[in-house]
Order: sequence, then structure tokens, then C-alpha cells
Amino acid sequence: MWKKLKNELEKSEDKNFLKAFIAPLKVEKETNSSLVLSSPSNHIITILEKNNFPKKISLIANTIFNYDLTVKFKKRVEQTPPELLQEKLPVGKKTSEKKRCRENKSLNKFYTFDNFVPGPSNYPVFAAAKSISQSPGSHYNPFVIYASTGLGKTHILHAIGNHIIDKKNSSVFYITAQQLMNDYISALSSQQINSFRSKILGYDTLLLDDIQFFSGKRGTQNEFFYIFNKFHEQGKQIVLTSDKYPGEIKDIDDRLRSRFTMGVILDIKPPEYETRIAIVKKKCILYNLKTDENVIEFIAKNIKENVRKIEGALKTLEISSDLMGEKIISISFAKKVLKDFIVSKKDITVGDILKLTATYLDIPLRDITSKKRSKKISLCRQIAMFLSKKYTNMTLKEIGNQFNGRSHATVLTSIKKIEKNMMDDPSLKSIINKLERKIEENI
Ligand code: ADP
Ligand code: MG
Repeated sequence: MWKKLKNELEKSEDKNFLKAFIAPLKVEKETNSSLVLSSPSNHIITILEKNNFPKKISLIANTIFNYDLTVKFKKRVEQTPPELLQEKLPVGKKTSEKKRCRENKSLNKFYTFDNFVPGPSNYPVFAAAKSISQSPGSHYNPFVIYASTGLGKTHILHAIGNHIIDKKNSSVFYITAQQLMNDYISALSSQQINSFRSKILGYDTLLLDDIQFFSGKRGTQNEFFYIFNKFHEQGKQIVLTSDKYPGEIKDIDDRLRSRFTMGVILDIKPPEYETRIAIVKKKCILYNLKTDENVIEFIAKNIKENVRKIEGALKTLEISSDLMGEKIISISFAKKVLKDFIVSKKDITVGDILKLTATYLDIPLRDITSKKRSKKISLCRQIAMFLSKKYTNMTLKEIGNQFNGRSHATVLTSIKKIEKNMMDDPSLKSIINKLERKIEENI
């Protein structure tokens, strides 16, 4: 029964979401009226419950088997705890060496799960990362996080490392792709390639930051391909981050690209307003900034693109309030100090959206608003209409006018079509997500 239900879910859910949150489930108990699925971690359960999966699954059961099914999740005790898995690993390590790995200086102790504010924009990554840190190597391998700058990729990577080192008897190797290349080059030039390799391969988990840096660096790519395979063969956890979808990194060897995309890939989106409020509040406590709700709202409303910029604003406030002896930061003080910091960008227009969509889908701009009806042009037009409704304050009629005088009904039909197709078509969803991100970065 579960297999059939899973097949149905595959038709409507995102492939990566399924890999991350449905594939690890196992049937614990099934009858005609109930299904108990076990999960390797509580975070997976939380995310499935938050996304209404018990209901979704029982609705599917109702349609295909015609009976009411109650779906429950429970945490399962893994038969092979990660500790045992490590003992089986061929690369043995002396206690002193292990201890050295555990005192990992390259990890920022501040980047923990506790210091990360979860929200809808990052929750799948947050939940998957927590699961991984609880049982590294047992699911999602490799796990790839992608997001544009300042959205918490490095923070999450360190949080995984810190958690594994603190809670598991296991070692972690964290490095940026750029540093890996530098180390590789100096190993080559000093003819120490074997010790370079054996040092890395001696670790239990590999955390590699910013793999987009490998673009065009064929020698380092080959070396990393070797390291990747060794880790993977031994069931050791690999977590990678990238500033773009790993399949889209240019100038990467196909073999390596296919390794990047063989596991689970999830993205972090820019935080929405409520998450930004929570982030500002949390950072005020961490930086010991005394302020009020108005200032918190002012920052969350005006700084949208990424969290690094929010931190920058708060640090500026911290320094200025220290210098000027402002003990409790008022809204007028914050507005004055952050005046140059917050460059209010112009509102996005239908014209901007048309340009962005046309460039992204590689269609001449004038074709979108023209009468042409080829499949690609129509799709591009519908997407641009959908985004125009979402990101401008224009009415359907006004949007129609910008599309060469199309009617309000045509715009509405196009938007509805995109909304519906997005649910069934992950590639359309991913195109729209990418365009949304580009728009949000520009707002
Ligand atoms: P990236 O690697 O994606 O460029 P970072 O991980 O360096 O981004 O994050 C930039 C800064 O923003 C870091 O100081 C990080 O702690 C903070 N940050 C990002 N997202 C969050 C979040 N959701 N909650 C708390 N801090 C965050
Ligand atoms: Mg980073």
C-alpha cells in the first residue's frame, strides 16, 4: 500500500522534497484503516506534519483505495547507529588524532542550530541539516544546500559540523572549495599529495563550502572527484553548499556534476517578513542591543535581501549607539544612522519583470507582448503575467494593458494556469522560484 501511495505522491510533489523527507520513511505498521510510518529523525516528522502530509496521504488513499486511512509518523531507532557504522570504516584513527579532529578550529562555534532562526524560507534545509547531524551518513548523501549570498549556507554547514563534533564520537573536515584548491596546489608543488589525501580521507564527515568555486578548475575538480568517491563509497557523510543550483554551475566536469546532483538538493530562500522580525529580535539579544518594536519593524521592513545585510545594519547601530551614548536605540536614531545604509530600491515594474523573464528564458523581449503563440513564448508570457500580479500593485486590467492590450480575463486565465501547472511540474516551479529570487534580490 505504501508503495502505491508513494507513487502517487511522486506525481504531485517536488523530487528533492521527496528524496529528503519521504524516501527515508519506512512502514512500521499498516492496516486498512491506519498506516504508521517511521522516520529516522523527529525533524522529518515535524516538516511532514507542518506541510500537512498525514492529510495529503490519507486523501490519496481515499482516492485510490477508497477507504479512510489515518496516517501517523513515529521516530524509529536505527538498527545501525552511526557510531557502529564508523567502527566498520577502514580508515582507523588513533585517539589523539581523533581528539584533534574533534577540536576543529575551522568551525565557528557561534554558528549553531540554536543561533539559527528557522522559518518557511529555510525550514526544509534546517530540518534536513539537523537530521544529518544526528545520524551522519545514514541518509541524504551528498546533501547539497544552495542559496544566494548571506542566507545562511555557511552557518548551517558549521552548525552540522559543531553538532557532530559535540554530540557524536566522530570527526569533521570543514573547508571552503577555494581553500581546498590552495591546499591541493601546495601539496602538488611540495610533492605531498599522498599525505594531503590521507589527511582528508581520515575524517568521518566532509563539509565543503562554496563548490561553485570549482567552476573551470579542472585539476581541482579531478582531485575532488577522487575524494568525493572515497567518502561516498564508505558511506561517510558529504555536505556541500553552492550559490547556485549545482546542476547549473558552469564548467564542471560531467562526472562531478552528476555526483553533485545524485543526493538531495535543497535551497534557502530570502527570509519573509515574519522570519526577518524573528532574526532581528534574536540578533538584538545576541548583540545586547536595547531597542523597541518600531526599530525592529523598521529594519525588517527595509532590509529584505539577506541576513548578512541585516547583521550589518545591527552592527552599525551597535557601534553608533556606543559612540553617541545612546543607551536605548530609538526609531529616530535608527533612521538617522541607517539612512545611507538602507538604499530604498525602486518598486519593481512590469517592464522589469518582462526583461528578467525574457532574459532568463532566452526569448526576445518584444516576442512576449507580441501576438506570437509558440509554446515557449506563451509560457514566458504567462509566467511574466503571474509574476507581475505577485510583485506589482497593478490590477489585472492594468497588467493586460502592458501586454499589448490583452484583456483582464486573459491575464487571469494565464495566472491560474501557472498556479495549477506549478503544482504538477517541478521544472516550472524551479524556473519560477529562480525568477522570484531574482526579483526579490532587486526589491
Ligand atoms: P552564506 O554562506 O549563505 O553567504 P552565511 O551563512 O555566511 O551566508 O550567513 C550570513 C550571516 O547571516 C551569518 O552571520 C549568519 O549567522 C546569519 N544568518 C543567515 N541566516 C540566518 C538565520 N536564519 N538565522 C540567524 N542568522 C542567520
Ligand atoms: Mg558562505
